[in-house]
Amino acid sequence: MPAYKRILLKLSGEALMGDDAYGINRAVIMRMVQEVREITDLGVEVAVVIGGGNIFRGVAGGAVGMDRATADYMGMLATVMNSLALADAMRVEGVTARVMSAIAIEQVVESYVRPKALQYLEEGKVVIFAAGTGNPFFTTDTAAALRGAEIGAQVVLKATKVDGVYTADPKKDPSATRYASVSFDEAIAKNLQVLDATAFALCRDQKLPIKVFSIFKPGALKRVVLGEDEGTLVHV
Ligand code: UDP
Repeated sequence: MPAYKRILLKLSGEALMGDDAYGINRAVIMRMVQEVREITDLGVEVAVVIGGGNIFRGVAGGAVGMDRATADYMGMLATVMNSLALADAMRVEGVTARVMSAIAIEQVVESYVRPKALQYLEEGKVVIFAAGTGNPFFTTDTAAALRGAEIGAQVVLKATKVDGVYTADPKKDPSATRYASVSFDEAIAKNLQVLDATAFALCRDQKLPIKVFSIFKPGALKRVVLGEDEGTLVHV
C-alpha cells in the first residue's frame, strides 16, 4: 500500500544531464521515467516540477552581466524544454502526461489552471508543471513547494544526487550519517540544506513534509512512496 495518494516530485534540471556537460541525456531521462512509472503503477497521483539548470541558470554561470529578471525568464523557458522532453519520454514509456506552463506559450503547451491540473491528477495523468512559478527571483524548488501546496500533495519529494540529508558532506567526511527524519525546526537549527529558503519556508508554513532522496538509486522512489526507510523526511 502506498503511503501517499498524491505527491509532488521535484527533479533538478541537472539530474537530466547524466555525465554530459549540459543538456538532456536520453538514457538518464528514460531511466527516470521508468522510476516514475513504478509509482504511477501503484495508483499514486504524480505531479512533477522540473528545473532548468542543465540548460540555463539565471544569474550564475552563463548569465553573468545580464539583467537578472531577463536571465530568470530564460531559465524558466529552459524548464519548459525539459518538461517537453520529460513528457515525451513518458509517452514512449506509456505514461500519460500533461505539461502545464506558468507562462503562457499557448502554441507549445497549455497554461497552468489549477482545476484542470486537479482533474488530470484525478484521471491518473502525470502533470508536469513548467516555467517554475512564472516569476523571476524564484526557483523551481519554490515552484515545487507552491504547486505541492496548491494541489494538496501529501509530500514534496526532492530528488537529489545524494540519498538524503547528511550530518556533513558525505563526499568530504566519511563519518557523515544520513538523517532518517528531521523536523523543520531542527533542520533550521542545524543549518541543513533541504530546499532553498523560500521553498523551505513555504513548506514549513503549510505543514507540507519534504522527502529528500536519490533518483539515481534504482527503486528508491518506489520505496519512498511505500513509506520505507529511504532518504530523509523533513516533518513538522
Ligand atoms: N526560475 C525563475 N523562477 C522560477 C523558477 C525558475 O526565475 O519560479 C529560473 C531561475 O533563473 C533558475 C532557472 O529558472 O536559475 C532554473 O531553475 P532552477 O535553478 O530552480 O533549476 P534546477 O537547479 O532545479 O535545475
